[in-house]
Formats: sequence, structure tokens, C-alpha cells
Amino acid sequence: MNRNDDWMQRDLASLWHPCTQMKDHETLPVVPIRRGKGVWLEDFEGKRYLDIVSSWWVNIFGHANERINARIKQQLDELEHVILSGFTHRPVIELSERLGRLAPTGLGHCFYADNGSSAIEIALKMSYHYWRNVGRPEKRRFLTITNGYHGETLGALSVGDVALYTDTYRPLLLDVIKVPAPDGFGLPREQWVEQARACFVHMERALERHAGELAAVIVEPLIQCAGGMRMYPPEYLTWLREACDRYGVQLIFDEVAVGFGRTGTLFACEQTGVRPDFLCLSKALTGGYLPLSVVMTSDDVYTAFYDDYATLKAFLHSHSYTGNPLACAAALATLDIFEQDDVIATNRGKAAQMERLAAPLREHAHVGDVRQTGMILAIEMVRDKASLSPYDFRERRGLRVFRHALSRGVMLRPLGNVIYWMPPYVITPEELELVAEVTHEGLEIAT
Ligand code: PLP
Repeated sequence: MNRNDDWMQRDLASLWHPCTQMKDHETLPVVPIRRGKGVWLEDFEGKRYLDIVSSWWVNIFGHANERINARIKQQLDELEHVILSGFTHRPVIELSERLGRLAPTGLGHCFYADNGSSAIEIALKMSYHYWRNVGRPEKRRFLTITNGYHGETLGALSVGDVALYTDTYRPLLLDVIKVPAPDGFGLPREQWVEQARACFVHMERALERHAGELAAVIVEPLIQCAGGMRMYPPEYLTWLREACDRYGVQLIFDEVAVGFGRTGTLFACEQTGVRPDFLCLSKALTGGYLPLSVVMTSDDVYTAFYDDYATLKAFLHSHSYTGNPLACAAALATLDIFEQDDVIATNRGKAAQMERLAAPLREHAHVGDVRQTGMILAIEMVRDKASLSPYDFRERRGLRVFRHALSRGVMLRPLGNVIYWMPPYVITPEELELVAEVTHEGLEIAT
């Protein structure tokens, strides 16, 4: 038995893995990772895997990044954790000040948690509570677009719309209004925007009809990631802000997946100049090192909660590890790297290379669409190229690509029929070439 097998057996005897049908592991390995460096992870037998999914979209500056390591080690010697209610600490103050300067103007109040789903719960609760505090308790529903994903806790699932995750739990979920999401599947840019405009009619109608009972609209700006990397034009966000203002409804941007440079700007909403009422951030916030999330909000929201204790207007929401100092130190190191290395500009060249490498895949008989926004590139497999009819999800074509890529040392984890590249920003041109080659082979084998 090799050392991997030993760890695998011990793992399967004692762990239950997330987002996994555990029976799959009767034939599929659960890969025990011993260490990581840059974009590479290494198992106990010394085999390396290129982390093209950034370890669930969190790792942007590579594993074992020296600058982030150093900052965490330094913090560890000072303070590992302290309660954030009634107490505070240097990293969380510095991080809040810096995020306030980087985010769209006017989102100067940071409320922390430790994962993306919790950030969504906070934004939903805060929006509902805001309306209650300003004397409009009837505004307690949420509106969103189909195909969204906002996490797995009950509130976050309620505003999500990926059937695979939500359907089982439907009886437990909030009654949320959903309108069709814009979808640019294969369209040239002008038609894409036109299609989004036509689709916005549904949003406009829902806002008009339900404004009196609506607290907020929630969307993932520009890219619906877990819903299959579905991309829509920035214009949609501009129309949405304008309509929310007109109907007196708040706006929540979930940038948990797309924040921190993924779309070509530090925050996706920068591309529209639109400011949400709540900006939810997590994942890459700490460079993929430690769990941390933050909801950034406005003076208007903050002051609606600011009153004597007896009014019960306070936001009495908490998590034990809120604003953990080590995680905040990792986030500060991450922001330093953005500043020092001109990451956004460097990423442009890498995104262009991704586009070039993926171009030949468009011709593949079973590729229906190749789409890209910044450092996210998605390849959608279809049964029939002409009609774009999809493969049945039970055929698990993506899993076939995954298996092949794993054997070639690339972690090409699919989303159903969608294969995607979402690399750490430190990936080299040669490494991207390897990913393209293995993707092509995987498509040949899987389709
Ligand atoms: N929101 C979006 C857009 C996400 O992609 C995710 C996770 O993938 C979440 C929220 C939930 O974050 P977490 O997995 O940290 O709870």
C-alpha cells in the first residue's frame, strides 16, 4: 500500500466530505495533499496537481506564499484571537480602513463573519432589519435572478437557484421572488446587451409589483459562478441600481466569488460605477488562507441601527470567530500584494493568454460555448453543437474530464457540463499551456 492509500483509507473511515456523494469514492480517489507551493499541490507520493480552480476559488497568490506566511506568523506571536464584541484589535481596524478606501465610495462600515454564506445571511438580515428600524416592517421579502448561488445556509440557499442544491430543502426555505437571469450563451456583445435589456423587463415588472414588500434584490455581479459560470453584461447592474432606487428597494452584491481581481477589476461592481447597499466579500479576501468574510454597508444603513439599546434596533448577530486577527493579517498581506505587484494590470496579459489558448476549443464538436470574464474562463460541453442541447447531468461528462485531468496532474473540477479555468494569479504561461492541453484531451475523452 502506498502512502496515499493509507491516508485515503483513514480519511474515508472518519470524514464526510462537502458537496460529495461519498459513494463516488468507491472508484474515485480522495487525493491526500501533503503540501503546496505556488499553483501546485503535492500528494504523499510526490505527485503534483496544478490547482486551476484556486482551491474553490479562494487562492489567488499561490500556496505557501512567503509574504502571506510571514504576516500570519508575525500576527500569531502577537494575538491569535479575541472576542470582537466590546474588544477590537489592530488587524481588523486596519483592514476595515483599507477596504473602505478600496470599495465603492460610501461603504464605510464593515461587519465581519467567517465564510461567504454567513456574509449573505448578514446582508439579508440587515436589510430586513433596516426596513423594520425605519418603520417599514412589511418590506421583508427578497428578489433575485434565476440560476444564482449564494451559499448553503438556509437564507443563502433561499436566494439561490441552483436546483441541485436548493430543491431538496425547498420546504425549509424563504419565499423568494425569482426572475429570469440574463444569459448571453454564445451571443456577440451587442446582442448580448440587447438580450440582457429584454430580460431586465422581468426584473422591472417584479420590482413594480412587489416594491411594497421587498427589502432587497440580491445578485452575483457579472458572473453566476456556481450556476455554471454564466456571464452577463455590466449594464444590467446599472439598470438594476437605477430601478432599485426608483422603487425604494435595497441592493445586495454578492462578490464572494468574483471579488479581488477575478473579473479584471478589484471588485466586479467597479466596472459599472454602481454602489450596492451591501457588498459581500469572502474567499480571496485572505488570499485563500483563512476563513473570513465581510459585509460592507453605508452610513444610511448603519445609522438606522444606531439608537438607545432599549429600542432593540441593534444588529444582534454574531459568530465566535468574527474578524479573527490571523485572518485579518492574511487579508492585509493580500491587499499589500495587490498594491505592490500591480496585479490587476498583470492579470490582463494572463487573461489574454487564456483567451488565446481556449480559442481552438470553440471548434470542438461538443463545445457549445467558451466564455470569459477576466481570470475566469468557462467551456460548456453540449450534446449537439447546432441546437446547443445539453448532456443529461446524470451522464457526468464533467466528471470524465476531471478523472482524466487528475491523472495528468491538473485539478480541473467541473460544474456539471461546464469545465472552467479559475487559476491563482501567479500561474505562468507554461502552466496555462499545460492546462489547455489537458482540457483538450479531457474533452476528447469525455464527449
Ligand atoms: N456566494 C457566492 C457567489 C459563492 O460562490 C459562494 C461559494 O462558492 C458563497 C456565496 C458561499 O461562500 P462559502 O462557501 O464560504 O459559504
